[in-house]
Amino acid sequence: MYAHVLVEYNVKNLDKTFTYKIGKELQDKIKVGMKVKVPFNNTNINGFVVAITDSCDFSEVKEVSKIVDENLILNEELLELGKYLQSKTLCSLISAYQTMLPSSLKIKDQKHKYVKYETYLYLNSSTNIKEYINKNSRYKNQIKLLTDLLNKKEVLKKDYNFSSVQTLLKKKIISSKKVQVHRININNKIKSHQKLTAEQDKVFKTVKAHLNEAQTYLLYGITGSGKTEVYIHLIAEVIKNKKKALLLVPEITLSAQIVKRFYERFGSKVAIFHSALSDGEKYDEYSKIMHNEIDVVVGTRSAIFAPIKHLGIIIIDEEHSQTYKQENMPRYHTLDMALFRSKYNNIPLILGSATPSLESMARAQKGVYKLLTLQKRIGNSTLPHITMVNMQEEMQKRNMIFSDLLINKIKTRLINKEQTILLLNRRGHSTIVTCQNCGFTYKCPHCEISLTYHKTTSNLRCHYCGYTIFKPQVCPECQEEALNYYGIGTEKLEAELKKQFPTARIVRMDVDTTSKKGSQEKIITSFLNQEYDILLGTQMISKGLDFPKVTLVGIISADTSLNMPDFRAFEKTFSLLTQTAGRAGRASNNGEVIIQSFDPHNPIFEFIKNNDYDGFYRSEMIKRHTLDYPPYYYLVSLRVTSASYDDASSEANRAASYLRKNLNKNTIILGPTTASIFRLNNIYRFQIIIKYKYDDNLLSVLKQLDEMYILNKKVNLEIDLSPNVI
Ligand code: ADP
Ligand code: ZN
Repeated sequence: MYAHVLVEYNVKNLDKTFTYKIGKELQDKIKVGMKVKVPFNNTNINGFVVAITDSCDFSEVKEVSKIVDENLILNEELLELGKYLQSKTLCSLISAYQTMLPSSLKIKDQKHKYVKYETYLYLNSSTNIKEYINKNSRYKNQIKLLTDLLNKKEVLKKDYNFSSVQTLLKKKIISSKKVQVHRININNKIKSHQKLTAEQDKVFKTVKAHLNEAQTYLLYGITGSGKTEVYIHLIAEVIKNKKKALLLVPEITLSAQIVKRFYERFGSKVAIFHSALSDGEKYDEYSKIMHNEIDVVVGTRSAIFAPIKHLGIIIIDEEHSQTYKQENMPRYHTLDMALFRSKYNNIPLILGSATPSLESMARAQKGVYKLLTLQKRIGNSTLPHITMVNMQEEMQKRNMIFSDLLINKIKTRLINKEQTILLLNRRGHSTIVTCQNCGFTYKCPHCEISLTYHKTTSNLRCHYCGYTIFKPQVCPECQEEALNYYGIGTEKLEAELKKQFPTARIVRMDVDTTSKKGSQEKIITSFLNQEYDILLGTQMISKGLDFPKVTLVGIISADTSLNMPDFRAFEKTFSLLTQTAGRAGRASNNGEVIIQSFDPHNPIFEFIKNNDYDGFYRSEMIKRHTLDYPPYYYLVSLRVTSASYDDASSEANRAASYLRKNLNKNTIILGPTTASIFRLNNIYRFQIIIKYKYDDNLLSVLKQLDEMYILNKKVNLEIDLSPNVI
């Protein structure tokens, strides 16, 4: 027998399959889709078995060294999905397969490091324990262990005194057994499902009637309309049919409440899957899935590759979220992978959101997706009332951060013991440091980006590459003590808030306060338990959280995201503000939102105020149509990067003319231009944008171009077939 093995070859994009003989002892075990070690140029490297044959064309071949892990198999569906991933991102097949396995499993191969064992102790029934206890009452540790064992069937060995355990084992009074355990273990009582409202029930029944069809649904339901509850009912239905479910969420910590609800409903039948798990935890959850021990997988982006057999439904919650796109190679969009699995298994795919992406809504309007809507909030609590504040007028009153209105509203909340959430989508203290004397502005020497002042750590930092310097006393140019700090970040907001409300209990949530594992959950839980009056933070606070005591949301500067140089800036702002506003008044009818802006008459705020997604959608679609943007055109972004400005520039020009020569006439090619961050970590970046509707040549032309640059040492070419930002 021979195995055809796709090997990890060091050169990007070179997929090579080599043939190896399968030794006798492996013949019964080896399967297509398994990860194996094979000899290669005097070393052993990893590879995937892509085929097994009885004969081979070569007279002399080497032998497969070993199977990396018998638990680790890409089944037929995943092997096909890998090829699809390759075609969607132009990555190599081997890197597609690598991406589909959790990272801890892909580099190392000592599986036993990951399997966790515990030793349990049991009573041997033959002995008379009571008699033994009476005779040996002076051995306190032994007695403790034996009494516990009289009350419980088994105990954990590690909880007891070592020499006592040894003595009892030797005397054959107890015995021990080593068993594999899972690190994440859920043991709670299962709650029953809520009775669905009429509106929810209609959505539920529509999907339920077609559980064996590859249909995509867009579930457009306002915040708090009970989308998650519908997911739960659908999943229960799928489980009834002996199938499994996959629920994808944007970020697991922010979805902690959803995960909790799933544990409450499905107990230990839930596996979770995300990047913050330890390698061991990942291994455990993965093997639970492999061994069919679970009914539901809840996870972030990469969970779309979970080796679930008998998949019955896929749900993507908050489908508009940017996190569903992977930003490094392979740059896949989770939606594409989900569409593939939905078709492969003939099952529904549900995209849920209160603010669907324009692409998804356009597809729903065209009938490609089926549109389902939830228009009422549960318990008939109304959406919060939104008030705009003109910050230009406030500036004249010398209100730099807080408007009078916002201050008053916060005061009332403090008096009434209600909670407030404040959003400012920028971290740090001051976002610009300049010299008042000579005009010098601090910029990162490696990137073309202003440094941000962080007061807590007393330094200036580049938010792109991490470059850090101590807070300077004088201007490095003119040596004057004239440095000025402009622009507010969350750190300064926190300090100013403490000045305004010295007795309020305030907590900040942003990248800087949540770097430690578990710190986000901690902030969320303590805010939920009302240990704080005010939660402030970046967009981290906007998502999926359900805080019943929050009745006020303040948007400190709505302009931050509105003014981003990005064609999706309005869409992102609409979504961010609507989602954040949705945190207010979820349990009552007195939710209020204050939006501060220097451009309060911008029409987007009218749509946000009236919760008018449809109006926003129509107006934004007109703009996209005029400017040839998605959903009217598809985009590809190409980036030519190099440490040398000249190389990057000339190769970008060469690549652009190659595209112009070879792509269809009605495909639009823009650039090259400098990327929005032109220099990052000392690397110059040029960008080419392709806008196309249909182009049969596109993939093959891009592939050729990619291959032309694989071996080019001077410049690097990155191709993104579904860019988030251009
Ligand atoms: P969404 O996911 O749309 O934001 P949720 O599913 O989280 O909405 O529902 C909002 C709140 O309403 C939650 O606290 C949830 O427990 C509750 N809820 C949802 N559906 C029902 C129902 N049918 N009956 C009672 N409470 C419900
Ligand atoms: Zn930098």
